Amino acid sequence: MFQLLDGKNTAIEIKNQIANEVRGYTQRGLRAPHLAAILVGDDGASQTYVANKEKSSHEVGFTSSVYRYSAGISEQQLLETIDFLNKDDEVDGFIVQLPLPKGINEQHVINAISPAKDVDGFTPINLGNMVLGEECFVPATPKGICTLLTQYNIETCGQHCVVVGRSNIVGTPVANLLSRKGTDCTVTMCHSRTKNLAELTRQADILVVAIGKPEFITADMVKEGAVVIDVGIHRIEDASRKSGYRLLGDVKHSEVDERCSWVTPVPGGVGPLTIVSLLQNTLQSYKRTMGL
Ligand code: NDP
Repeated sequence: MFQLLDGKNTAIEIKNQIANEVRGYTQRGLRAPHLAAILVGDDGASQTYVANKEKSSHEVGFTSSVYRYSAGISEQQLLETIDFLNKDDEVDGFIVQLPLPKGINEQHVINAISPAKDVDGFTPINLGNMVLGEECFVPATPKGICTLLTQYNIETCGQHCVVVGRSNIVGTPVANLLSRKGTDCTVTMCHSRTKNLAELTRQADILVVAIGKPEFITADMVKEGAVVIDVGIHRIEDASRKSGYRLLGDVKHSEVDERCSWVTPVPGGVGPLTIVSLLQNTLQSYKRTMGL
């Protein structure tokens, strides 16, 4: 019988701790931490993510702001907003919601973010420091995955972890974090050119899936008793739902879950922990700025 790695409730617990800490600071007369977001275009999923980040910020007592632009904004205009936020002393951290519209070079934009405010942990300086094990902002989703494993006391030492997906924001950093000293997994990283993927995923004690393909991982690809972390989120049209859609992961939960010892649900697994990690990173930045 599998057990859920409940991201929703874990996130509530951590948010309560953050809210208590922030209350302590504001009661001493200090300003609240501030998280800003830049949102370009009208992609529905991006709007939902930014709205959720704003809502969570307010729940823990942060202030927040959202800079909204049409998809037609030039790269130069975007860089000017980033420069403005980099220099604003009352902004502790900010994110640029990805993906950006075609014609804007995402890496140029990310590189312009001050590493001291890069609470998504996407800049080369933060990623480099993460690999070196130095102080940094750890990217939100990989950090959230590690938090979940820790919260549920999942044994990682010497476990074979197979990560499917090698993006800069999920697969590559999570592989690095899980293999480092203290976590001590033996990590295999897979991607679209991997041969015999199912043979490798079947060897996983811990399987992390971040490929962006709905229900791609099926029961025959999972070892009995594995821990499965499903990072994928897909909105699938569903006229029977009030919202008009339902959410699916990269894992076919209807058949995979019963093979697992532990599994993250979608929704309510990795997603809420991603937002919590962003709040933790913003608090870390605030404390550094305020000398706390
Ligand atoms: P990307 O599209 O950037 O990367 C996908 C990765 O999967 C690539 O490395 C790609 O390989 C690999 N891949 C694609 N097809 C296959 C295949 N058939 N077999 C093996 N590997 C394959 O995605 P992201 O990492 O940004 O996101 C992955 C998923 O996670 C998405 O559904 C996204 O929405 C979700 N997500 C969820 C978050 C959350 O908070 N829960 C946060 C961030 C993302 P290659 O490099 O060779 O192209």
